[in-house]
Amino acid sequence: QKKEEDSNQEEDEEEKEEPKVSEFKKKTMTIQEVQRSLSVYPCRGSLLAAIEEHQVLIIEGEPGSGKTTQIPQYLLEHGYCQDGKKIVCTQPRKVAAMSVAARVAEEMGKKLGNEVGYSIRFEDCTSEQTKVKYMTDGMLLREFLVDPSLAGYSVIMIDEAHERTLHTDILFVLLKDIIRFRPDLKLLVSSATLDSAKFSDFFNAAPIFRIPGRRYPVHIYNTRSPEVNYIEAAAITVLQIHITQQLGDILVFLTGQEEIEACQEMLTEHIKGLSSKIQELLILPFYANLPSDMQAKIFEPTPPGARKVILATNIAETSLTIDGISYVIDSGYVKQNYFNVRSGMESLVVNPISQSSANQRAGRAGRVRPGKCFRLYTQWTFENEMEENTIPEIQRVNIGNVFLQLKSLGIHDLINFYYLDPPPAETSKLALEQLYALKALNYKGELTSMGRKMAEIPVEPMMARMILAADQHKVVEEILTIAAMLSVNGDIFYRPKDKAIQADEARKNFFHPDGDHLTLMNVYNEWVGAEYSQQWCNEVFIQHRSMKRARDIRDQLVGLMERVEVQLSTNPGDSVVIRKAITTGYFYHVAHFSKCGGMYETVQKSQTVTIHPQSCLTENLPPWIVYHELMMTTKESMCNVIVIDGKWLLEVAPHYYKDNEEDVRN
Ligand code: ADP
Ligand code: MG
Repeated sequence: QKKEEDSNQEEDEEEKEEPKVSEFKKKTMTIQEVQRSLSVYPCRGSLLAAIEEHQVLIIEGEPGSGKTTQIPQYLLEHGYCQDGKKIVCTQPRKVAAMSVAARVAEEMGKKLGNEVGYSIRFEDCTSEQTKVKYMTDGMLLREFLVDPSLAGYSVIMIDEAHERTLHTDILFVLLKDIIRFRPDLKLLVSSATLDSAKFSDFFNAAPIFRIPGRRYPVHIYNTRSPEVNYIEAAAITVLQIHITQQLGDILVFLTGQEEIEACQEMLTEHIKGLSSKIQELLILPFYANLPSDMQAKIFEPTPPGARKVILATNIAETSLTIDGISYVIDSGYVKQNYFNVRSGMESLVVNPISQSSANQRAGRAGRVRPGKCFRLYTQWTFENEMEENTIPEIQRVNIGNVFLQLKSLGIHDLINFYYLDPPPAETSKLALEQLYALKALNYKGELTSMGRKMAEIPVEPMMARMILAADQHKVVEEILTIAAMLSVNGDIFYRPKDKAIQADEARKNFFHPDGDHLTLMNVYNEWVGAEYSQQWCNEVFIQHRSMKRARDIRDQLVGLMERVEVQLSTNPGDSVVIRKAITTGYFYHVAHFSKCGGMYETVQKSQTVTIHPQSCLTENLPPWIVYHELMMTTKESMCNVIVIDGKWLLEVAPHYYKDNEEDVRN
């Protein structure tokens, strides 16, 4: 299956001279030499002068120019951390915050967590001595709740601003307010793309500092006809490059862990069939849930004579730069959260990327020398089916959580708030309605004491409500276990292909007749009983890493309970009250089995849904269930479900269900 490529646009400009630093030399460069080779380095003096002069500065520069790793170090060296103040740099993604902090600690020759640290949800790797702190934008937003003037910081760098994540956008609004009464605070907004004018306008015409970039031309190839299966097409393209093109590493953009693993498997299979004369091809996956030692691997230099192929998610688009990439393969897709106002559901969906994303991805091939980008979509698709720019997250996700936080910061009029781009009116309305239904807001839209407590817990409002309900039902320990298990990103159960049957059997042993939440609780409790043993996990096909993560999250949640005046209580055997507590938080997520239709329908929006095949409740379908989340696969499927009694709905959310009283009683 030979793919035909069609050469279309030439990315930018004319050929530039070959880079002075040859690839090989780069590999043997010392840290200091690498630092000096970055495009931000010659600007160090003028950049520091500009920061000195202006309170707000927008910094624009190509990915890989050294913004994230170098600027905080320059600031530190220049004395911005006197009198115990810190420099903070936000990242939209957890992995980026961790990886960059590790890199900077290494560059400074310090232990991670001392002078340089990171803070992400449920994990704080900083200490008293920390001066440079990388954190997710969501965590900085949380810090506002504790200290609305952010007094501990001297410089705030909002990095990757072009990503326009919900939290970054909200931070802008709050920071715009703070800088008025904190003249000593410096605000840097850094962006990898050319849309800085918008940020500048927002911050009262703040100056833009451009880091001169070098970018080599990237030749773009499109497929002639649309690809049926882009994962397979990506694997084939990798092999074609490997066989026909000169050395240089390959970066493949896919949408998530599953696709990456599938592609990795195809490649491994194909390589076996290649002649031994062909150079070595190292295959490295890169996605958020990959263990950090594996993540670090992608930055290791490729051994001479070999080629590296990195299978990555969108994280490699601008957040992290991997040196030595000469070829990019772009699937044209990205996984994003989408909130459907009509159905009231948020789901992770695979969507086409925007043209600006596609150009960023291509640009990754031209950092150190001219490169090539293979787009697994047609030129027509690029021109007609891709938006020009990515829609800011605030316009496509559920903003209930952020609204709750803003309310607790004392901001009342959320609709007419001054956003960079406002959330759609229906989304705002729905978020307020939900917060009201959860009793976080009263009928006047004011924060209730329940709402105040909910805002303190760093989880979605529904989950926060569930945790607080557990207090009334005296099952706090159980609900915290469930909340922690549900918050683990990544699989709990391990299912290797060659041992699928044994793995499924092992999983069944944990099944609880009342549903998946209780099954997860069983797993956790048995792991505790096995003294957190890794060997136990291996024997019963449980992912030890996910369990450790659940324990960390649980510990954090336990630690928060005092602040929200909740005492630990336990009643492990009472499945009814545990499920009632869950329902108190998740009464929006109820589905009813319709006998005539033979399938489930959500109560809120009458949408047809199915139970995810991995659930323990797929055999006898109970009439009423509560689901944790909906996932869009081939169908809308409900992940993690519990059996409930329809009558409970009147008990836990009478305000919401009283109009449907007839239905729930049947
Ligand atoms: P920017 O923020 O402008 O995109 P960065 O500061 O992230 O640029 O990257 C600067 C350089 O540091 C890049 O060449 C990148 O490859 C390198 N770098 C970043 N993280 C690591 C790491 N963990 N290991 C090795 N090199 C890294
Ligand atoms: Mg960066």
